[in-house]
Formats: sequence, structure tokens, C-alpha cells
Amino acid sequence: MNHSNTSTDSATSHGLGQQIPYERFLDCVHCGLCTAACPTYAETGNENDGPRGRIYLMRAIVDGRLELTDTARKHLDLCLDCRSCETACPSGVQYGRILEPFRVDMQQIPAFTTSEGDATPAWFRKWILYGLFPYRRRLEWALTPARWMQKFGLDRLAEKLGITRFLPTHLQRMQQQLPRLKPHEKPLPEFLPAKGTRRATVGLFIGCVADAMFRHVHWATARVLQENGCDVIIPGQQSCCGAIHYHSGASEPMMQLMAMNADAFLEKPLDAVVVNVAGCGSMLKDYSHVTEELATHDPDAAGRINRLCSLVKDVHEFLAELGPISPSGKLPVKVAYQDACHLQHAQRIQKQPRDLLQMVPGLSLTHVDEPELCCGAAGTYNLTQPEMANRLGQRKLNHLLNNAPDVIASANAGCSLQLQAQLKSAGHDLPVMHPMEILDHSYRNQPLP
Ligand code: SF4
Ligand code: SF4
Repeated sequence: MNHSNTSTDSATSHGLGQQIPYERFLDCVHCGLCTAACPTYAETGNENDGPRGRIYLMRAIVDGRLELTDTARKHLDLCLDCRSCETACPSGVQYGRILEPFRVDMQQIPAFTTSEGDATPAWFRKWILYGLFPYRRRLEWALTPARWMQKFGLDRLAEKLGITRFLPTHLQRMQQQLPRLKPHEKPLPEFLPAKGTRRATVGLFIGCVADAMFRHVHWATARVLQENGCDVIIPGQQSCCGAIHYHSGASEPMMQLMAMNADAFLEKPLDAVVVNVAGCGSMLKDYSHVTEELATHDPDAAGRINRLCSLVKDVHEFLAELGPISPSGKLPVKVAYQDACHLQHAQRIQKQPRDLLQMVPGLSLTHVDEPELCCGAAGTYNLTQPEMANRLGQRKLNHLLNNAPDVIASANAGCSLQLQAQLKSAGHDLPVMHPMEILDHSYRNQPLP
């Protein structure tokens, strides 16, 4: 269908959503079966805060029947892009492939980015989201004072004295989200050899925020891969996956990061590029979707990126396919496993992490209600939409704590930060660990901390 003839108002004159294949809107038959799976709808009960309503809004704007008003924009901004609606939809609607390019367009409309409805100030985007987060070395330096403050208890003192309230809102929120940082660990080397007979050669993706704040998880993942007979290559030239840019509408820098990652990982023959952060894995797997346009003017570059994309595996998915070697160290603990949206919805990986955890002798998994609902982290959502992020975080935490676990397991850096912040504000002292850390302890026959 050619819908451009209906384009009459100012929003459409900016070309908003015009590159989205119109069939994607038509796939939605308005049955509403997705609404119960939508976390924002579950909280507000407003049709416009659910997937069906949002698809309707975007289609009406593309058709020229509706302008991008502040109200419409707020409903679209409140979406977590968690893709729970995709899992629930019987018609196969590709919601993320409607929302994400639509958001890219929204960012390119000056009236949108400067409007008071935009929750993210320009300085925060420029200096923090784009200038700091995607660079692991810069982030590591920026975290050094926080490490020292935590070491001497100055962070708690600053909170007690109320000094942190003088920070701009977004920085205050970052400070609240900061977990107890682990002692500094040395960077991973470029190569770690397999233990025993080599079964595969893999590249390990370490990303940006994950490497600066969760390097201990990368070390644990590498050791688990080694235990499973994998040579592990960690290319130093790899970069951020670009999700921060893409999900906030900046597609140009994201394309550069994609090319850097293709160069870094295609240098040596690999059986897989293994990722232990759900959000990064989902972005890397989706690279080929983003390169559709690139293929028209630079097919070589698009071909390289597609090749990288075809190699990407989530670490649980990879180990399940390889045939995991059971660890022998006993860990008599109850674990509440939290399904990260970018693992369960975007990559459809639910069973593999549970199966791997249940290989650990003595470990049991607790029942968790509403596993399909997002914890409210959603990339930088907990910084840009703090009120809804808190509501969803508390809802998730209540479900996770229901059956008195000893540990919460999560395979996404953003979810771990969100859950740790929620635990802290609720006064709980429960560890949040990556499944690879738990497996690593069992392989090494070490009790959990
Ligand atoms: S997105 Fe799918 S489940 Fe939701 S209303 Fe449309 S067709 Fe129904
Ligand atoms: S992506 Fe998540 S928050 Fe957005 S409409 Fe779908 S279920 Fe709701």
C-alpha cells in the first residue's frame, strides 16, 4: 500500500516513520492479546500505554491523521521496547521494528528534541549517553572516584548529609543506581586457552558499561567457556554494540560502532561470537536488520556486518548447543532467576539459562510470578523515565523475593543495576549474580559470597 498520499500534516512532512514498511502496521489485527503482557499497560491501564494503542498512534502519525503531539510522544516514550508484546502476539507483529525506526525519526525532528516533553536534556545525551557510556576506558576512569568514595564510606555520608540532592536529576539518578563496585580487576587478555580438548574457538564480546562495571562477569564467563573446551579470543579493538545510540535515535554513530566490531571479530576464524549481556547480544544479532539500507550503497560493509551478526550467540544459547560439561562443586542455594527482556523476548532464550543453573549440584530455582514483565531497567530507561522504572522495579523485586531466594540471577547488566538499586532502597542485602558467575563458582568448587 502506498500511504504517502495521505501525508498531509507537519509531522508527516518531516517524513516520520515513512521508511517503515507499511505492512508491519497492517500485521496488527487489533486483537489486544498483547496488552496483558505489557508492563506499562499493567501499571497504568491506559490503552495508549499498551502495544495496540502505540501501534495505532504511530500508524495514525505515519498516515497523517495525527500530529506528533506531546501527549502522543509521552505514550511512545513510556514504552520500554522490552518486546514482551512480540512474544505474546499471535499475529507475529514485529513491534520493535516499528518502534525503533520510528524513534530514530522522532529524534531527528528539532521540535521533538528541544520540546519540554523530552525527559533527557541535551547535555546528558552528549556528555554522558554518547560521550561516556560507550567508552569502557573513560567510564573506568570516571568510576575511580566512586570506588574510593565507596571504600571510605563517603558515598553513604554524602547521601546522609543530603549533598547528592544538589546534583542534576539525571546524575542523582545515576548515583542512586550505582551498585557496590567490585574491586578493580585487570582487563582480560586477548587470548585464553581451552582446558582439555579444544571443542571450539570463540570471540568474547565485552562491550562498554559491562566491561567497566561487570568485568568480574566477563572473567567468570571466560573461565566457564575454557572449562567447556573453548579457546577464548577477546579482541582489543572491539567497541560498544551501539544499542545506547540506536535506542535513543542516533543511528550514524551506531553504524560506525557496528563496522568497528565487524573488523575486530572477523580478523580470525571463529565458531561464534559469545555475548553475556542480553541487551548487547540482542543488538548484535539485530545488526543485519539495521544494515538493510547500508546494503544498497555499500554492500561490502553490509556483508561484513551480516557475517558478524550470523556468528553472534548468547552465552547460554552457545553452551546449550555445544553440550555443556556439568560442574561438580556443590552450591546448596535457592536462586530466583530473572528473565531479561532482551533474552526472553528479543532472543527467545528462556530454557537454556535455567537448564545450565540446574546443572549445579544442590542448586534449586524458585518460582517467580510475571516472568514476562520488564524490571524497568530497559537500557537507559531507568534514567529517562525514573517514575515508571521504579514502579516496575518494585513490582519485579516483590515477585523475585516471594519465595525467599538466597541469590537473584540475571543475565543482563542493566537489569542487575536496576535490581541492586531496588534491593538497596528496600533495605535488602541479597547478591545479584550472573548465571555465569554461579557456574564459575561451581566449576571452581568455591562457595557463593
Ligand atoms: S500487536 Fe499482536 S497481539 Fe497486539 S493487538 Fe496487534 S495483533 Fe493483537
Ligand atoms: S515493547 Fe514492552 S512496554 Fe513497549 S508496548 Fe511492547 S510490551 Fe509494552
